[in-house]
Amino acid sequence: MLKTGLLGLALSALAASQAVAQSGTADRVYVMDCGHNAASDQSRWSPGVNVGKPIELSDNCYAIKHGDDWLLWDTGYPDAIVEKPVVTPVGTASRAKTLVGQLGEIGLRPANIKYVAVSHQHGDHVGNVDLFPESMLLIQKAEFDSAFAPDKKPPFKAERPMRKLEGDLDVFGDGSVTLLSTPGHTPGHQSLLVHLPNTGWVILTGDAIHFKDNWDNKRVASMNTSAEQTLASLKKLEDLMVQKKAQLWINHDKVQSTGQKRSPQFYD
Ligand SMILES: [Zn+2]
Repeated sequence: MLKTGLLGLALSALAASQAVAQSGTADRVYVMDCGHNAASDQSRWSPGVNVGKPIELSDNCYAIKHGDDWLLWDTGYPDAIVEKPVVTPVGTASRAKTLVGQLGEIGLRPANIKYVAVSHQHGDHVGNVDLFPESMLLIQKAEFDSAFAPDKKPPFKAERPMRKLEGDLDVFGDGSVTLLSTPGHTPGHQSLLVHLPNTGWVILTGDAIHFKDNWDNKRVASMNTSAEQTLASLKKLEDLMVQKKAQLWINHDKVQSTGQKRSPQFYD
């Protein structure tokens, strides 16, 4: 009896500590303008649907304050394209302002960023990783291995502080900011779950989905590693949305992005 009682107490203490751990919050999220893509054919992301129709895509970075620490989620197109937009068969990539300039507007220098976490290896997400040589890069191991395969051009310098993850990570240990393994678009794609005191729970998609119409119809983009993994990842995000009553912030959805508070305004 005594043993059971002690075990029961220990278990309820554990449950209580987990409840506390799960209730942590980050302080602020700043949504920054990390580029724009005027794409010529929407069906690149929605195969067979809206073929030949152009689409404008936003590209955001998100600076997240947690106490004295900062985490930057994705780094966007390279700052250099502010001067020189890039025209490709996909569309025209441009930047209205630099990431470093926007960090400066809220009093930050790159050295103030403790963690840089990237959703995946594509150039509209890792374009400025090398501007943060002192920050700890958080990337899935599968993504790193794929990005640095011998036949590929490295997307950033491999010699840097880096943690290669294998699955979800509670970044600050208090449940406030969690990297979510959401493979499919690329082998080690990840998304981010953030808990804010007033806004509540927010999921930052990365490129798990590219715009709302694809989310509503659970469409898998072309240029995708695994449709099966993508659909499983979308289910994971959808389950979390229900469980946490979370908002879904879709990085490339220009309509949604335009309607959001933009840095130096912030969500808390
Ligand atoms: Zn992208």
